Amino acid sequence: MKKFLCIALAVVLTLSMVAAFAACSKDDSKETTTAATEATTTEKETLVMATNAEFPPYEFHQGDKIVGIDAEIAQAIADKLGMELKIEDVQFDSIIPGVQAKKYDMGMAGMTVTDERKESVDFSTSYAKGVQVIIVKEGSDIKSKDDLKGKKIGVQTSTTGDIYASGDFGEENITKFDNGAMATQALVAGKVDCVVIDNEPAKNYVKANAGLKILETSYIEEEYAICFNKENPELTKKVNTALEELIADGTVKTIIDKYIKAD
Ligand code: GLN
Repeated sequence: MKKFLCIALAVVLTLSMVAAFAACSKDDSKETTTAATEATTTEKETLVMATNAEFPPYEFHQGDKIVGIDAEIAQAIADKLGMELKIEDVQFDSIIPGVQAKKYDMGMAGMTVTDERKESVDFSTSYAKGVQVIIVKEGSDIKSKDDLKGKKIGVQTSTTGDIYASGDFGEENITKFDNGAMATQALVAGKVDCVVIDNEPAKNYVKANAGLKILETSYIEEEYAICFNKENPELTKKVNTALEELIADGTVKTIIDKYIKAD
C-alpha cells in the first residue's frame, strides 16, 4: 500500500511538473509573440516604393490593395531586410523625379533600364524582361513596326514606348496617355491607329477589349529593374543583394510564373 501511495504521488508530481512546464513555455511563447509584434509596429524601418498601379500584371489594384509581380517581389525584399513595405501609387513620370527628391526609397514599376534614366537614378540587377509590342485593331493594315510611319501612335507618357516611338516616328504622330488602359480605349475608339506598350499589360488590355490584337513582331526588347537615388548606395546595395538572393533561390521566378502563365 505504501509502495502504491509512493507511485501515485510520483505520478501526480510528474504530471503537475509537466503541466507547470507547459504553462511556463506557453507564457514564454506569449512573450516572444508580444516582442515580435512590438518589433513590427515600432522598430521596423520603412521601405517606400513608388509605382504606377495601372500596369498589370506587374502592379494593379485588387480591392483596396496594390498587388502584382513588383508588389510581391518588393514585399519579399522587405521581409528579407526586416523592413516594412509601403507602396505609393503615383503617375509613372513622377517616379524617377520622386526618387531623385528622396520622396521614395525606390521606384519599381516594370521600369525599363535605359542609358538616359541611368543618368538620373541607379538601377538594381534586372529581375524581368520586357518587350515593347504594337497593339492594333484586327484587320489593321499595320503588320509590323515598318508600317508605323505617318500613323497615329498611342503611348503611355514617358514610358519607353513613348520615348522610342517619338524618336523613331516624330512627336507629331504620338498621342500620350496617362496609362495603357486609356491608350487602348483610344485605339478602340479609333482615335489612334495603334498603341506601343509593354507586352504583359498589352495582353491584359487585348483580353479586356474585343477586336484588338498584338502584332507578332515586337518593337524592342528590354530589361526591368528597380531604381534608386544615386546618393543612397547603402540602401541600393542592401535591396539589390536581397533581390539577387531572391532571383537565385527561385522566389522571383515563382512570383512571375504566378502572374504570367505560359502562352
Ligand atoms: N517599361 C516601360 C518603361 O519603363 C513602361 C513601364 C510602365 O508603364 N509602368 O518605360
